Amino acid sequence: MNQMKLKILSRSENEIFARNTVAAFALPLNPTLSELSDIKTAVSEAVTNCIVHAYGKGEGWIEIECSLDNARLHIKISDSGKGIADLNEAQQPFFTTLADEERSGMGFTIMKTFMSDFCVTSRLGEGTQITMTKDFGAKAEADAQ
Ligand code: ATP
Ligand code: MG
Repeated sequence: MNQMKLKILSRSENEIFARNTVAAFALPLNPTLSELSDIKTAVSEAVTNCIVHAYGKGEGWIEIECSLDNARLHIKISDSGKGIADLNEAQQPFFTTLADEERSGMGFTIMKTFMSDFCVTSRLGEGTQITMTKDFGAKAEADAQ
C-alpha cells in the first residue's frame, strides 16, 4: 500500500495544487481520464469548502492524506476550522450557508456522485473531516460481478 500526506494553507491558489497532486498520486493505478477528472472534482470541492467555509476570511491548515491499495484510492481531507452544526442539513442538495456569495450548495452532492464512497464528520468549533474512496475500473468491474 502506498501512502502520502499533504499539508497546505487554506489559500485559493492551493486548491489546484491539491487536486493535481492527488490525481498524480493515483496515476500508478492507470486511471481513465474520466476517473482522474472525478478525483480532481471531488478534491476540489472538499478543499474549496475548507477554504471558504472552515476558515472563511482567516487562514488555516488543510491536511490531505491518501492511500492506494490495488485498485482503490482513499482520500481524507481535514480542517481545523469552524465545523458544521447540522451534517444532515449540510449534505442536502442546494443547501448552502453562503448563498449571497453565489455558492450553489452542491459540493457534497458532487463528492458523493463522483466518488465510490463518501463520509463526513465534524465537530462545531473544532473542524471537519471528509473521507472518500474511489474504486478504479478493474476493481469496480470485479465487485459488480
Ligand atoms: P458549492 O459547493 O456548490 O459552492 P457550498 O459549499 O455551500 O456550495 P456544499 O459544498 O455542499 O455547498 O456544503 C454545504 C454547506 O456545508 C456549506 O454551505 C457550509 O455551510 C457547510 N460546510 C461544508 N464544508 C465545510 C467545512 N469544511 N467547514 C465548515 N462548513 C462546511
Ligand atoms: Mg462547497
